[in-house]
Amino acid sequence: MKAIVFTEKNKISYQDIKTPSLEKEQVLIAVRASGLCHTDLDVLQGNYGSSAFPLVPGHEYAGTAVQIGDKVTKIKVGDNVVVDPNIECGYCLSCQKNNAHLCETLGAYGVTVNGGFAQYSVVHQNALHNIGDLPFHIAALAEPLGCVLNGVGTINAGASNNALIFGAGPIGLLFALAAKDKGAKKITFTDINPDRLLLAESMGFNAVHSTEENLANLNKEFDLVVDATGLIKVAETLINYVHDGGKIMHLGICPPDAKIEISPFEIFRRQLTIAGSHSLNHHNIKEALVTIHNCIPELEKIVTHKLTIEDIATCMQQGAPKDSLKIQAVWDN
Ligand SMILES: [Zn+2]
Ligand SMILES: [Zn+2]
Repeated sequence: MKAIVFTEKNKISYQDIKTPSLEKEQVLIAVRASGLCHTDLDVLQGNYGSSAFPLVPGHEYAGTAVQIGDKVTKIKVGDNVVVDPNIECGYCLSCQKNNAHLCETLGAYGVTVNGGFAQYSVVHQNALHNIGDLPFHIAALAEPLGCVLNGVGTINAGASNNALIFGAGPIGLLFALAAKDKGAKKITFTDINPDRLLLAESMGFNAVHSTEENLANLNKEFDLVVDATGLIKVAETLINYVHDGGKIMHLGICPPDAKIEISPFEIFRRQLTIAGSHSLNHHNIKEALVTIHNCIPELEKIVTHKLTIEDIATCMQQGAPKDSLKIQAVWDN
């Protein structure tokens, strides 16, 4: 079968590999849509996961079950499914507290074991969810949507009356859609990219071009401020926009060694809550499949590029096409 393989750190190859064989509780999936994510590049560069190469990347994927192991009871051949990629140890303190996504030795399909940038993928039955007749490219958004739902739940973003999100990229937009679906009232985006702001407006959100002058007018306006850029210069200013008693969420992935300066007195005196959100817990995939059904027209706008898997390998090497949001590999048959 054809697959993208990270053969070693910073080396990508599009090649033929052996179609994997099944163990008792595994399902062979013909992949139909597989999303590209910044995490794939972090894995390639050895900055995320176990850096055990060779590896087939891809952790946002959906497809059809074409073969099942002897002990598989939850999935039938012909079922359309989406993958919940995280694989936890089941024993560490986080796992005992039902925080599988914070497992000390967290693995994932496409991160530590072979994933979805291939014609076929072998996945344990417990990591699969039936998607019925949901289009594959929409179902493949369940993983990133699950990640933002983890954040939405952590700070109860659905209760927000007036939120500000930095960055109208896929994660920012998905966060806003999930928060709105959970009841958030008014959501404003700020970004340097006017096209992304127009897109946010077309989904019913407010949009402000992130000039210094515009941002100065937003001082302490919001009960929730979210970074979905991963830029240090944004992360360190979130506190300026949150109202006293409000919440800040770090959703963007800043460089691991970066530091920002915050006054503990200000956090105390203004009673601020600062939260983070990493990956997704298992219940977030189920939640995402519910949210997806409420937001299909908006989600269609987020998948801007449906490419061949070969083109995805090129994107990994040469960068994403201009004006892209979510890029996916799709298969017609
Ligand atoms: Zn991802
Ligand atoms: Zn664990």
